Amino acid sequence: MTETADVVIVGGGLEGAAAAWALSQRGVTDVFVAERNTVGSGMTGKSSGIVRCHYGVSSLAAMATVGLEVFESAEEIFGNDIGFRQTGYVVGVGAPNVENLRKSLAAQREVGVQTEEIDASDVAAMWPWADLEPFAAFGWEARGGYGDAYQTAQAFSVSARAAGVRVRQGTEVTALLTDGDKVTGVRLADGTEVCAGTVVIATGVWTRPLLAPYGIDVPIEVHREQIMMIKPGVDLGQVPVFSDLVSLQYIRPEPNGELLFGNSDLMALDIADPDGYSNRADDAFVDLTVDKLSTRFPGLTDAAIASSYAGCYDVTPDWNPVISRTGIDGLIVAAGFSGHGFKIAPAVGRLVADLVIDGRSTDPRIPETDFRLSRFAEEDLLRSPYPYVGAGEMR
Ligand SMILES: Cc1cc2nc3c(=O)[nH]c(=O)nc-3n(C[C@H](O)[C@H](O)[C@H](O)COP(=O)(O)OP(=O)(O)OC[C@H]3O[C@@H](n4cnc5c(N)ncnc54)[C@H](O)[C@@H]3O)c2cc1C
Repeated sequence: MTETADVVIVGGGLEGAAAAWALSQRGVTDVFVAERNTVGSGMTGKSSGIVRCHYGVSSLAAMATVGLEVFESAEEIFGNDIGFRQTGYVVGVGAPNVENLRKSLAAQREVGVQTEEIDASDVAAMWPWADLEPFAAFGWEARGGYGDAYQTAQAFSVSARAAGVRVRQGTEVTALLTDGDKVTGVRLADGTEVCAGTVVIATGVWTRPLLAPYGIDVPIEVHREQIMMIKPGVDLGQVPVFSDLVSLQYIRPEPNGELLFGNSDLMALDIADPDGYSNRADDAFVDLTVDKLSTRFPGLTDAAIASSYAGCYDVTPDWNPVISRTGIDGLIVAAGFSGHGFKIAPAVGRLVADLVIDGRSTDPRIPETDFRLSRFAEEDLLRSPYPYVGAGEMR
């Protein structure tokens, strides 16, 4: 059997769904999304969903701003609540990182991020259980918070389908079809060929082996990331997301009053098989959580562990995504989000749509060259000009 489409998107996670949505917003609706499982069933379902624009890389700060604007207007755009909660976002650094925090905040403001420095007394008012002594400076985003990546992916998908996009679940792509150096479509597991002049690969942690047979190396390592849910033992009220770059952890509230704990120490990767990894925290991680939480939040004397799970990051050498054309004409990759692809997803969708329709970014703040695949071979990595000692990744 043969089908045709203008664009095939492989992968119905957050990024593939965002691309389908953004294409449909620009009038490109002859789009076929092939998702081998169900929409959002990959690593999207594991996301902590933290929303902040705090990036030293200006294009990423601008992308996060675009994402924030979409999340804030979600009810208007999608017609329902997608789980965004605007709790605010605070980031704290120790003395070695004060100068770069200030430079980064200034650079963020230049691309439209609403962010400011606040002092320890402001943070103490929001997080009275915390020991803030080791911090030397704090950044604050009143518009930050957290979202629900699964609900967001569903919203993108529903909106794209309403515009005419075909979202096929239970539909695995087993091969790319090519003619010389041009992509011509994909082959599905049932043998169906879907012919298309453009194919977008949005398969996250599964991207590298999918593209390797075609001579395209997207240098992604799969890293297992463990998450703990904590019962705080007190009614926290409305607390903001807290990114602690001294003891390298992040904490965010859950709607049910629990806390989500994540480790921000990413110096050593926990290399994993994305189809066969332990989906619960191991004992060492439980100990680490207890240690970090009790050090930072000595006031939470009755805190207890509620549950745990794990997901995988698709980590590139510079911890930044590839949103790029490739050596095969018509083949575009949007993968390698390295654990921070939620907040920028609406902008990722728009950049993919720009690459499909215009061949380049239409937002001057977000040059497509920043995310080109060739930067790794060129050894011209996308790094923050204001890196944080001990916490350089993702910021
Ligand atoms: C534990 C964890 C915490 C995170 N926390 C945050 C955070 O706080 N803030 C933030 O901004 N980001 C965060 N992220 C990152 C963000 O959630 C991800 O970057 C994003 O969800 C990835 O979306 P994706 O579409 O690239 O990948 P996935 O959601 O994994 O989607 C890829 C899809 O491709 C499908 N697929 C694979 N191969 C094929 C094939 N051959 N044919 C058809 N379909 C195929 C899979 O089934 C899957 O559904 C976190 C991620 C994790 C794992």
